[in-house]
Amino acid sequence: MSGDIFVIVEHRDGTVLDPTFELLGRARALAGASGGEAVAVLLGSGASDLAGSLSAAGRVIAVDGPGLESFSPSAYQAALVPLIRDRAPALVLVANSGAGMDVAAGLSVALELPLAAYAVDLELDGNGPLVTCQLYAGKIQAKVRFEGGRGIVTVIAGSFPAEAGAVGGSPTVEALVPAATDDRVRFVDLLRPEAGDVDITRESILVSVGRGIGEQDNIELVEALATALGGAVSSSRPIADLGWLPRTRQVGKSGLKVKPKAYLALGISGAPEHLEGMRGAELIIAVNSDPRAPIFSVAHYGAVADLLDVVPALTTRLGG
Ligand SMILES: Cc1cc2nc3c(=O)[nH]c(=O)nc-3n(C[C@H](O)[C@H](O)[C@H](O)COP(=O)(O)OP(=O)(O)OC[C@H]3O[C@@H](n4cnc5c(N)ncnc54)[C@H](O)[C@@H]3O)c2cc1C
Repeated sequence: MSGDIFVIVEHRDGTVLDPTFELLGRARALAGASGGEAVAVLLGSGASDLAGSLSAAGRVIAVDGPGLESFSPSAYQAALVPLIRDRAPALVLVANSGAGMDVAAGLSVALELPLAAYAVDLELDGNGPLVTCQLYAGKIQAKVRFEGGRGIVTVIAGSFPAEAGAVGGSPTVEALVPAATDDRVRFVDLLRPEAGDVDITRESILVSVGRGIGEQDNIELVEALATALGGAVSSSRPIADLGWLPRTRQVGKSGLKVKPKAYLALGISGAPEHLEGMRGAELIIAVNSDPRAPIFSVAHYGAVADLLDVVPALTTRLGG
């Protein structure tokens, strides 16, 4: 086993996505303790152009070959299995995204390596990796160790600062052509969010509403608060599923990832799928009537209160 920590790079439209930088920053910090390097593993046709943005890595392995034109979990797996088997890194870090979870689960089975999913923290001590994972929609956190000391970890977005993975030096780049491919899963089309609505990924203040709002008519209370704050309204998935707000306002795993300066979570429980989209906000303020709601574990400020009391009072206070 080497002490290297592999980070599987996630990229789209020619850009490395933030969760990769979060993982690289953590891998870089841990590589000293593991006695190896943070190694960015970059798959895709022409993707080696992105190696320059992975400067926090000690090394970049750029894998390009048939089947890697677009993301495909089976082609990624076919390329990664022999690489991970040969190099035997101490840890393989993958974003806990839809694509990342597909890849990580397949690697775990094919390589017979344990998988710790929904991780929110990762340390290395005298006994090897110690992973903190969320269970039961974030209501419980479990500390996990790997039998044999090696494993794969999928990390929820926003768990580590992306800035730490966007610094560094000039890694060596190793080009690799995979010996095998697998076309059982083929990329067809990328479905992008509808255009024409507010782009919540660009807003600096988001007033986000969840099922705690109770009724569709109450959404206007939240809109008034967002206007008074100079921000926009976003939501958890159930609100978009109910059609109370457009899908373009949905934050989370199957919605949009946002990183505003301030995120108000009103009547949102804080399920992992929601946290995945907003943990990176600079300031998180939660209002929830349940003191045990998981959202309070990520909030910087919180009020255990009825949002139907707090929201109008705050809007009035702001002169709205
Ligand atoms: C594959 C997959 C993808 C998913 N993708 C997403 C996603 O992208 N985004 C997303 O959000 N979810 C997503 N989910 C769903 C997610 O698991 C949760 O079900 C969802 O986030 C819950 O939304 P919520 O917090 O609004 O509702 P709930 O979990 O029902 O929480 C409502 C909260 O409101 C509080 N509350 C009730 N009344 C009041 C009041 N008067 N004042 C204050 N607080 C009150 C309650 O205490 C509770 O905490 C996904 C799930 C799966 C399986």
